Amino acid sequence: MFLTISTTGTPERPATDLGFLLHKHPDNAQIFSTSYGTAHVLYPEATVERCTAALLLEVDAVALVRRGKGKGRGGAPDAALAQYVNDRPYAASSLLAVAIGAVFSSAMKGQCTARPELPAEARPLRVEVPALPARGGADLVRGLFEPLGWTVTAEPVPLDVRFPEWGDSRYVRLELASEELTLSEALRHLYVLLPVLDDAKHYWVSSDEVDKLLRAGEGWLPDHPEHKLITSRYLSRRWSLTREALERLELVRLAETDDTEVEAIDNAVDEETDTEEKPVPLAVLRRDAILAALHACGASRVLDLGCGQGQLVQALLKDTRFTEIVGVDVSMRALTIASRRLKLDRMGERQAARVRLVQGSLAYTDRRLKGYDAAVLSEVIEHLDLPRLPALEYAVFGSARPRTVLVTTPNVEYNVRWETLPAGHSRHGDHRFEWTREEFRAWARTVAERHGYDVEFTPVGLDDPEVGPPTQMAAFTLATVTATATPTAKEEKAA
Ligand code: SAH
Repeated sequence: MFLTISTTGTPERPATDLGFLLHKHPDNAQIFSTSYGTAHVLYPEATVERCTAALLLEVDAVALVRRGKGKGRGGAPDAALAQYVNDRPYAASSLLAVAIGAVFSSAMKGQCTARPELPAEARPLRVEVPALPARGGADLVRGLFEPLGWTVTAEPVPLDVRFPEWGDSRYVRLELASEELTLSEALRHLYVLLPVLDDAKHYWVSSDEVDKLLRAGEGWLPDHPEHKLITSRYLSRRWSLTREALERLELVRLAETDDTEVEAIDNAVDEETDTEEKPVPLAVLRRDAILAALHACGASRVLDLGCGQGQLVQALLKDTRFTEIVGVDVSMRALTIASRRLKLDRMGERQAARVRLVQGSLAYTDRRLKGYDAAVLSEVIEHLDLPRLPALEYAVFGSARPRTVLVTTPNVEYNVRWETLPAGHSRHGDHRFEWTREEFRAWARTVAERHGYDVEFTPVGLDDPEVGPPTQMAAFTLATVTATATPTAKEEKAA
């Protein structure tokens, strides 16, 4: 089983950055053992202009059978011979996906300690898989990869080159090319879609597969036109799991698309000012609470950290008291959507001078974020793994240090009031945690104390007497603002 990933580069952006991204040095051939054989990572070429990493998986067919899951294709009962004579050793399948997950796990998560800025950057990528079992044929291969921004070449492999009249095999030679994806996205596409095309998982599908699928599918699966087929095949058609996954995807989609609903509602409100019958969506209540808090602290230069698809940035732009608005997000895709929403390319000069979207990770200090009046973290902290949270705290409260920081996050106690939410589930597939009011307050107070801020809490949405509000907000204010404030340019001049 074989797969290559290539990129091109320039002296400023060398192709060999691929080595940093994959956490595998281009000069070394490396070997990893997996439960089904040995994975090799090597670089057939590694120059500034062009770099290719190859993942070669040698499958141990005997080990596969001993583990009892060396199925023949299509879930048919294992014929004695089919256990040993099958396509497992050479066709890219769920085994290759498992190897990608094991060998490139940091790259999949978009982590790179040595070069933290790299994972978020899209770069020219080319992926080649010489033998991909494709149930559904080349058309399905295109239908799965093209909506994700790949240019797809899927050539059917003849059953036997010596006998063309036998027709094509079920395999295709796959070539994917894109300029607009990050390596993490590319690997997560492969991790999910290789087994989907193979459609014969080598291991028993358990309920944590749903989490794996949603995590790997973050940012692309909810809106994929074939998300139902992908989900059902990935989970080996186990219906209860598939239904759970589809429900959770629907929640993600709702969270992501509520802005369009919001716009529709905003317009309706403008037209008839009749709000009585329709409950105001939580996203609108949140935005209103944030705007009110920003007004209250008199901020005019504002950071929207983890701005997502730019809904808050858009609202801030409509209010002229905000003179400089910077949206920051780690996701290039979110920023692309934000820039489309804001129509940045068609904006008048005066408007355009007020707003900027920048890509960056909040887990790293960033000089570009220093010196603002206020920073908003709206529904962002819960998207970080808990061990990464201190890094964000330092980057925001220790390094960027705006006068005011507004943080909103779900109140997990409220989840029982959420009718569509199955018990014990979080509100969004990508939430790494959801806190009670007490947990959030304890965190906020510690952060405030550590970095010299005062903190106050405000409920957002209906404050249920028993379980509290759906969203909780903390407003941090720099305690020593007069003592440490740097003089403005005007004050400096006057002095
Ligand atoms: N603030 C928006 C979006 C919330 S979704 C709103 O209230 O609707 C969370 C956002 O945080 C996503 O867009 C995600 O890409 C971003 N994000 C997650 N981890 C991040 C990190 N480490 N650095 C920057 N942005 C991050």
